[in-house]
Amino acid sequence: MIVELVSTGTELLLGQILNSNAAYLAKHLNELGFDVLFQSTVGDNRVRMAQVFETALQRADLVITTGGLGPTQGDITKEVAAGLLGRPLVLHKPSEKRINEFFVSRNLMMTENNLRQAMIPEGAVVLDNMCGTAPGVAIEIDDKTIIHLPGPPFEVEAMFEASVVPYLNNRFGGQGVIKSKVLRTSGIGESTLEDEIIDLIKGQSNPTLALLARSGEIHIRLTAKADSNQAAEALIGTLEQEIRRRVGRYIFGTDAQSLELVVGQLLQENKLTLALAESCTGGLVSSKITDIPGSSNYLLGSVVSYSNEIKSGVVGVSAGSLDSYGAVSPQVAEEMAAGVRSRCKSDIGIGITGIAGPGGATPDKPVGLVYIAVSGNKGIECHEHRFNGPRSAIKMRTANTALDHLRQYIIKS
Ligand code: ATP
Ligand code: MG
Repeated sequence: MIVELVSTGTELLLGQILNSNAAYLAKHLNELGFDVLFQSTVGDNRVRMAQVFETALQRADLVITTGGLGPTQGDITKEVAAGLLGRPLVLHKPSEKRINEFFVSRNLMMTENNLRQAMIPEGAVVLDNMCGTAPGVAIEIDDKTIIHLPGPPFEVEAMFEASVVPYLNNRFGGQGVIKSKVLRTSGIGESTLEDEIIDLIKGQSNPTLALLARSGEIHIRLTAKADSNQAAEALIGTLEQEIRRRVGRYIFGTDAQSLELVVGQLLQENKLTLALAESCTGGLVSSKITDIPGSSNYLLGSVVSYSNEIKSGVVGVSAGSLDSYGAVSPQVAEEMAAGVRSRCKSDIGIGITGIAGPGGATPDKPVGLVYIAVSGNKGIECHEHRFNGPRSAIKMRTANTALDHLRQYIIKS
């Protein structure tokens, strides 16, 4: 069942509002097994709107429009479709009554133009609007269907659940289910990851397979279509197993599991405590760690050791190392990790130092150069990175990468 969503409203074309109706409808229709293959947006212009409806009805079985059902002259959706389909608009008495009652119950004066909302294309099915005055309509033309919904998102959402889903089930029956699962990776670049699973990407059918870059993480999204939840999960499971066999060490979690959540669980399971000395991230790693409820079970403390004085005075980095290697150096990162670990008496210490930019670079120390050290009873390790992008992106990438190094450190044997 091919679906096209048509969003109407000049304010969408002007970029004044975000098209949340299309996102909402696409998500829910996909979950119900409908193939949403097209989305169009058109302004409040009769000629262009008719063109878009005509195209949509040619290439889709089901067209759902939003917006333009209101009482004013700019609200033309129903008229345009009715004109295109040769269906005259007729007064729908129950809707007229509802609109009248709506105004009476709110002690408002109803103007004549409000009754335009009760005009529906001849033979259309009326979809009640329990949050507003404009009813939705479904017009059936042979095996094609066009549904008009109003614009305000809360009306769309309420009507979709209460009226549209039952209507669709009644007209088209069950469409099976579509399930997605996201495998979240870090510590591997997009192109390397793609290379590892390129044959699976090229040969994909059901499940489909997509790579998505998300602030320092690469997500692998598997989407399966089947008759039941169970069958869809089985399809996903088989492909997931193969992906894990190849790149499992980079997969830290699935779906809503964030890196900080997974790291927190690992620390807790292994009864490990943590302390951090952060320079260029300014406490961002600690902030992420403390986003997780219960983080007080493993995070002992953190020092934002921005100046050399605090690096040496509070964290214990030697003045000699700061002098000879500079604050952004592997030696200082390691001394930060070891120093904060010993001063906080934690099992693991992390030290982070780098140049977040845009200033502060030297020929051998460019913006984006970052050292992340992890110290614990498995020894000390230090990683050098060269991130690019603006200051905020470098800080974010550094923080996520530090969390991943911590994760890898805990799970390594
Ligand atoms: P009303 O009776 O309120 O005029 P309507 O059915 O005529 O409703 P529009 O006039 O097109 O719908 O839109 C009403 C409001 O709904 C818009 O000003 C906007 O805030 C919101 N809206 C419309 N379309 C969308 C959309 N696609 N995504 C998010 N919000 C939308
Ligand atoms: Mg309107």
